[in-house]
Amino acid sequence: MTVPAPHQKAKGLKPGSPRPAKELCSDCGLCDTYYIHYVKEACAFINQQFDHLEEQTHGRSRELGKEDEVYFGVHQKMLTAQKKEPIPGAQWTGIVSTIGCEMLNKGLVEGVVCVQNTPEDRFQPQVVIARTPAEVLAAKVNKPTLSPNLSVLEEVEKSGLKRLLVIGVGCQIQALRAVEKQLGLEKLYVLGTPCVDNVSRAGLQKFLETTSRSPETVVYYEFMQDFRVHFKHEDGSTELVPFFGLKTNQLKEVFAPSCMSCFDYVNGLADLVVGYMGAPFGWQWLVVRNQTGQEMLDLVQDQLHIGQVSSSGDRHQAVQQGITAYDKAVTLPMWVAKIMGLVIDKIGPTGLEYARFSIDSHFTRNYLYVKRNHPEKLADHVPPFAKKIVEQYKLPQQ
Ligand code: FAD
Ligand code: SF4
Repeated sequence: MTVPAPHQKAKGLKPGSPRPAKELCSDCGLCDTYYIHYVKEACAFINQQFDHLEEQTHGRSRELGKEDEVYFGVHQKMLTAQKKEPIPGAQWTGIVSTIGCEMLNKGLVEGVVCVQNTPEDRFQPQVVIARTPAEVLAAKVNKPTLSPNLSVLEEVEKSGLKRLLVIGVGCQIQALRAVEKQLGLEKLYVLGTPCVDNVSRAGLQKFLETTSRSPETVVYYEFMQDFRVHFKHEDGSTELVPFFGLKTNQLKEVFAPSCMSCFDYVNGLADLVVGYMGAPFGWQWLVVRNQTGQEMLDLVQDQLHIGQVSSSGDRHQAVQQGITAYDKAVTLPMWVAKIMGLVIDKIGPTGLEYARFSIDSHFTRNYLYVKRNHPEKLADHVPPFAKKIVEQYKLPQQ
């Protein structure tokens, strides 16, 4: 039997109290637990340690000479997939929920850390350790707000769970990897999603109110590969808003400071990542980082249509123009935005090139944010792979 490595415990912080990472805190949940003792080493916003944690998790850090690794992290392979029978109401086709269910069904894990919502609010995260497939399914669809996934870590250790699957986004997984050895687990599986531009619950409200025609009926949204935000409403209708029509001047302050200073869009420390941005519209994009990730994929392979990743177009000019437009908070009239959206959807980057477009746009924006707001952190906080990406572009001097 595995016993937890002896570790120090401190008292978790009370909800709402100041956090060690101050305004950069993403509310990953670690500080709600006695593992706060490790916060100085573990917090993604206090101690950037990708090289070390990639080495620990995948046996090596990403190769800076290989463009695919610079962008997408250490991986064995990438593919695209769709569930043959999509789960109704999932964010995409429900590959994440399906893997969670099968891990329990096959007895590979005893619990799955995932994010349901509170009874009162469909977008307010409620983190649970699901013990049954029904509880995993109840966590389907994104709660597009900061979520304290690691707040259940004390419960994991106290309940004696030995085999665990954690579903989570990059900042949560960085802190998780840093304390992994203290959890006393025999086996930890990590199923990640990419993540970008997350918001507090109040920020989400502002985003919905500035962008959607009917904020109170939105049940789901996604920034899609066709350069439009797709909102789904309670009555089943879909509303499309072109990226270029977003009210940048009002939305600049909406994204959480943690997300404005994050360089782990692709969840580099997960075993398997399931997103969409490297896949054609309607498909999901999978990055298998190591053998544990492959083991998870094998479990559901027969339930999936599988495709190859592809790439076309050249993102560079669009990214460079976007840097200036975002910086000046340019908001286009809606009719111009719609035409631009249609044109760029026809001739713009697709597949992995779309993913690179999105990574470049966010890393350049975030680099500028850290430089302007936390200059003392710039050198250590921005990892070498992100510096390499940012160096391709001309940034405003100030
Ligand atoms: P489902 O089967 O519907 O399962 C969704 C899972 O997400 C659930 O297991 C739940 O536990 C978990 N979850 C829900 N909310 C949160 C949360 N706030 N924090 C952590 N876990 C949560 N993919 C991209 O390719 N590009 C992006 O830019 C991108 N941005 C994202 C931003 C956010 C905030 C989130 C949560 C995800 C993002 N994704 C992004 C991932 C993508 O939207 C889908 O979640 C993913 O493709 C899985 O779809 P699915 O149908 O398999 O998931
Ligand atoms: Fe603590 Fe997580 Fe916030 Fe860092 S991001 S201060 S580890 S709760």
